Amino acid sequence: MARIKRAAAKVLMFAIVTGISGTIFGCTPVEREPESPAPAEPQAKQEQNGENTKVGEQPDQAPQEVDAAGTYSPVKARDRDFYAPNTEDLGPNEMRLIACGTGMPTARPKQAASCWLLELGNGEKFIFDIGTGSAERVAALQIPYNYLDKVFLSHLHTDHFGDLDALFVGGALAGRQKPLRVWGPSAETPERGTKYALDHLRKALTWDLDGRQGLTDPRGYHLDVTEFDYMGMNAVIYQENGVTIRSFPAIHSLDGPVSFVVEWNGFKFVFGGDTYPNKWYAKYAKGADLAIHECFIAVPDMIDKFKFTPQSALAVGTQIHTAPEAFGKVMSIIKPRMAVAYHFFKDFDTTASINDRIRTTYDGPLSLSIDYMVWNITKDEIRVRMAIVDEDVWPPPATEKPQLPDQSKRIPYSPEISGGKLDMKKVLQPVYDEINKQYGTHETQE
Ligand SMILES: [Zn+2]
Ligand SMILES: [Zn+2]
Repeated sequence: MARIKRAAAKVLMFAIVTGISGTIFGCTPVEREPESPAPAEPQAKQEQNGENTKVGEQPDQAPQEVDAAGTYSPVKARDRDFYAPNTEDLGPNEMRLIACGTGMPTARPKQAASCWLLELGNGEKFIFDIGTGSAERVAALQIPYNYLDKVFLSHLHTDHFGDLDALFVGGALAGRQKPLRVWGPSAETPERGTKYALDHLRKALTWDLDGRQGLTDPRGYHLDVTEFDYMGMNAVIYQENGVTIRSFPAIHSLDGPVSFVVEWNGFKFVFGGDTYPNKWYAKYAKGADLAIHECFIAVPDMIDKFKFTPQSALAVGTQIHTAPEAFGKVMSIIKPRMAVAYHFFKDFDTTASINDRIRTTYDGPLSLSIDYMVWNITKDEIRVRMAIVDEDVWPPPATEKPQLPDQSKRIPYSPEISGGKLDMKKVLQPVYDEINKQYGTHETQE
């Protein structure tokens, strides 16, 4: 059983909010003893602390890992304050946001470019931006690709859509049995719009897609593109299954970029694409439960570490993007329950500077994001953790039975190329025999 049961997850949550003073509950589901009385000491601590506890909610009872004398058990597991993908149920009134890319257009191992996965308690999942390098972060979450079929692009810089091809093709190969749906803005001319970009991306993939015909389930190799008006003012661009998504313009590079608002179940989530601080974000993001907004590298770091000239650093860092001081000012206006900053290289020697600069203009709740940061959002609290992922991850199973491809769709090699094959029939026949025997198939070599 891979999943932590809901009740056990609640114990875990309780232990984390109350357990910092030394008493922590065990959380292993098989060890739960529902009949045993609730331990007295943590209750008392809960009352003393008086923070983060929910009125009327009692913790599930579980065996203690610390005995009455305060001695740690040598055999019971201790809670861990991280998110292990694919091990926690999402409550019906809960959202989870995972940062799958928080970095810059220039690739680095630690931070992919902009990408955010929003999961709702009704089962809906949305990807906002799919910047360069982010597809592997999405893969690390082990979510079946059939559930990752909706992508919203804030604009067409590669650090915001550069891994769309990886999600499109890799996802289809690994179980997305339906088209990939993509929403993105128009622009001043058709050639700068999302539809043009993705029509041409599809064309650029002609060799890739042609060569896959007749080999695997064909249903995922289609892009379903919706281009919406970039000038829409909080205009609805998506409305399904109780979820409404709106867009409004951003000010960045050229006309075209946008930001998004998601409304669901009384929650308001805002994803801001790249922008100079703008009046529409100040208006439409107001009061968000969670508001993401870009916060660019501080200008001195752009010069010292990124080797920009002072002229370029000032122009890019304050006029094309949002400087940390300006990010803080925006958040002071909209007052979200949680402000999330991204779009800077977050290192030991840049984080303090970003934080100090934001704090000159904003003193509210703040997350300086990094890849794999996770936010669980309920009406009562916003819990922030890091995901710990398995680098050896394999794709999760397809959610539906794969459709067998039409092998007649295979495009043959030319006689010249085909004629270059070494004779491997004898070498490969045992593989066919093994698989035909195990799966009852009757496959033969070409
Ligand atoms: Zn951009
Ligand atoms: Zn960007």
